[in-house]
Amino acid sequence: LRRNPGEIEFHQAVREVLESLGPVVAKHPEISHAKIIERLCEPERQLIFRVPWTDDSGEIHVNRGFRVEFSSTLGPYKGGLRFHPSVNLGIVKFLGFEQIFKNSLTGLPIGGAKGGSDFDPKGRSDAEIMRFCQSFMTELYRYLGEYTDVPAGDIGVGSREIGYLFGQYKRITNRYESGVLTGKGLSWGGSQVRREATGYGCVMFTAEMLRARGDSLEGKRVAVSGAGNVAIYAIEKAQQLGAHVVTCSDSNGYVVDEKGIDLELLKQVKEVERGRVSDYAKRRGSHVRYIDSASSSVWEVPCDVALPSATQNELTGRDAAALVRNGVMAVAEGANMPTTPEGIRVFSEAGVAFAPGKAANAGGVATSALEMQQNASRDSWSFEHTERRLAEIMRHIHDTCYETADRYGRPGDYVAGANIAGFEMVAEAMLAQGLI
Ligand code: NDP
Repeated sequence: LRRNPGEIEFHQAVREVLESLGPVVAKHPEISHAKIIERLCEPERQLIFRVPWTDDSGEIHVNRGFRVEFSSTLGPYKGGLRFHPSVNLGIVKFLGFEQIFKNSLTGLPIGGAKGGSDFDPKGRSDAEIMRFCQSFMTELYRYLGEYTDVPAGDIGVGSREIGYLFGQYKRITNRYESGVLTGKGLSWGGSQVRREATGYGCVMFTAEMLRARGDSLEGKRVAVSGAGNVAIYAIEKAQQLGAHVVTCSDSNGYVVDEKGIDLELLKQVKEVERGRVSDYAKRRGSHVRYIDSASSSVWEVPCDVALPSATQNELTGRDAAALVRNGVMAVAEGANMPTTPEGIRVFSEAGVAFAPGKAANAGGVATSALEMQQNASRDSWSFEHTERRLAEIMRHIHDTCYETADRYGRPGDYVAGANIAGFEMVAEAMLAQGLI
């Protein structure tokens, strides 16, 4: 705490992982001797840089850019970039730390990193977004490379931003290095299913969790938060598997659509028009309720399955209690750390199946690793093949978490299972690679 003052989210993420690791460290004294945990908590490299840019009226703005390269033990640094005014070092470090274990759980050769900027893309023109991305990459490019560090998207960074970042990287380096960024467009090195992967993967994980309890998603009432990349494709896959999804949200409010979310309309409003969920409510018809987030929380809407897919700490102990009261049976985190520690405790005490983000939302980064494989072999796979690979990976992550929790005497505890399984693989590789 003294070493990293004020980094609240980073402390929260570290505490959550370390709380699970006691039995592993007790079983393997070499982990303590080699100071594996101390080393893992200190990023290999942290970059903070100035990002100056001009808006359409000619005014100059100065933002702060970040890239925290946490661990290259299992492969090149890998993790997304977030553009949101709330971004600071503590948030980037929490995300980068989580990413180490998430990437390890995928079983694919990728290390952990995260980055971004406190730039707020909301309301900015296309030209402003492009100038910002170009300025951001003009500093960051020197630290990237397909064998070094491979960023992707996150909140506020979608295929448009990845395009501008890739264009600038190519221009500066004079290299068409497809594998340097993932989340690219399909016509210039992107992978099928990458756009859908995090949301799809989260729902696939949920289906596995329910299957382990002899149940399925068919006919379940589902509440989703967020209306961005993760939320939209979580809704799509849940609907494909026969669930009835009744909510989505943004930072202003949420909608309750008892007829089930109209996905075509939601995509039109969010992906094409870059509008708000209040616009969805206005256009969808009088049966839809739009509720301001200042007055109540989306988690008060009764549901069987909850998929928090917006941002960190959006589901509190109080929200969890409301969900439990209304009979929720499964919760899977599409977002990173959306549930507070108090919320996780409430779910655990109530026996709710709870999937932490580092397991449930790993489908996005896993498909990014598949994009890197396709780039390296100058190949591109079909949608069906890639989705099948994603489903296999999500099943593998589920089974690994489930069996690890069992092995350590914590049956059904996916938090412990994910933390321990993710850690074991990294620790073993760190021991093998010596003191670096
Ligand atoms: P998007 O930018 O596409 O969407 C984010 C959504 O969350 C928007 O609806 C946004 O609403 C809402 N949101 C953001 N901040 C807040 C806030 N402070 N309060 C309430 N709502 C908020 O991002 P993604 O869908 O890509 O990411 C969502 C989450 O999933 C993040 O936690 C991210 O780290 C995680 N994730 C994403 C992956 C990916 O592949 N994209 C991979 C793994 C995890 P508004 O428009 O009002 O800001």
